Amino acid sequence: MKKQLIAATYPGRKKDDLILIAGAGGFIGGSLARYFHDQGFTHIRAVDKKPLPLWYQNVPGVECLCLDLSEPQNCKHAVEGAVEVYNLAADMGGMGFIENFRVECLRSILINTHLIEESFLADVDRYFFSSSACAYNTELQKDPNVRALKESDAYPAMAERGYGWEKLLSEIFCQEYATERSMKTFIARFHNVYGSNGTWDGGREKAPAALIRKVIQAQENNDSNITIWGDGNQTRSFMFIDDCVKGIDMIMHCDDLIATPINLGTSELISINDLVSMIEDIAGVKLIRQYDLDAPRGVAGRNSDNTFIQEVLGWEPDTPLRVGMEKTYNWIKQQYMDRKAGKPTPAGEY
Ligand code: NAD
Repeated sequence: MKKQLIAATYPGRKKDDLILIAGAGGFIGGSLARYFHDQGFTHIRAVDKKPLPLWYQNVPGVECLCLDLSEPQNCKHAVEGAVEVYNLAADMGGMGFIENFRVECLRSILINTHLIEESFLADVDRYFFSSSACAYNTELQKDPNVRALKESDAYPAMAERGYGWEKLLSEIFCQEYATERSMKTFIARFHNVYGSNGTWDGGREKAPAALIRKVIQAQENNDSNITIWGDGNQTRSFMFIDDCVKGIDMIMHCDDLIATPINLGTSELISINDLVSMIEDIAGVKLIRQYDLDAPRGVAGRNSDNTFIQEVLGWEPDTPLRVGMEKTYNWIKQQYMDRKAGKPTPAGEY
């Protein structure tokens, strides 16, 4: 097994090389800025179109710029001097958002299109794109007892409408920049990421955060009911944020993965009903479930086949769901209480 490299151990990489993180006001981008800062990198530029007070994390010593990266001149400015570029910027959210705002999701194509071109022109050494399991063929996800998705399952293509097609096409941009222009591009297909410092309210939140908030709300309001989208039998796997940022770093510094989409997710499959039970257990409460069968519910089942990541990196995301969910519950509970007390709490509304 080859030694797996990360930015901190990559030959020739210096701690003051400029790292650009696009979408750093958001959940994963903000956590990645924190991660590189904690690894000792001293020259991190964080960019997001959201105003600064709405960023989840403001990491000390990080240069923060408020720019709309769907504009080429802003991308040019953002990548100036960068050695590595991480594109985590996208107009996105949970099922409620991606089923109802397909045009917004599709328009994220502008971000990657301009950012990769400007990165190429600026001679950036490495470029990372955050793709999604939504790029996979939806025909393969009609049964809750899923066969885990392997990388080749994206084709023949029948991606999630809007959001998934944008991801697939942006992946192709990354692949062609590598083929035609010898750019070192990297593509990870994330499977549902959860954790602290992400959206938990406002309409863009994903299932784990939304369900945690609903359980807390029920407790706070002395309400014994909880509403679940769909019949609760949908299955998913959920990756803890610490695994996600570590995986991004490993993928970006593995030359065998240039222009090669790879799953980044756990293979710990769980139904939404069982996820609710887990949260109830953490919160010490039992609620009566109401099922909203008209609400967006996404595909019936989706899991990550981790054969390839194991093969190439000798690693896969491994934080047990219960461990990550407890940490996430505690963070959201604190946010909820802070908001109730009138303190500012960025929730992702913008
Ligand atoms: P997020 O919404 O928390 O962060 C995305 C950030 O991008 C936001 O802060 C937003 O303001 C910013 N942004 C949007 N348009 C922009 C623009 N034009 N210019 C500059 N910034 C802009 O989402 P996240 O969960 O951190 O996701 C990060 C990336 O990972 C996205 O590409 C997303 O599609 C992908 N992804 C996430 C998940 C997940 O479960 N969170 C799963 C699969 C893929």
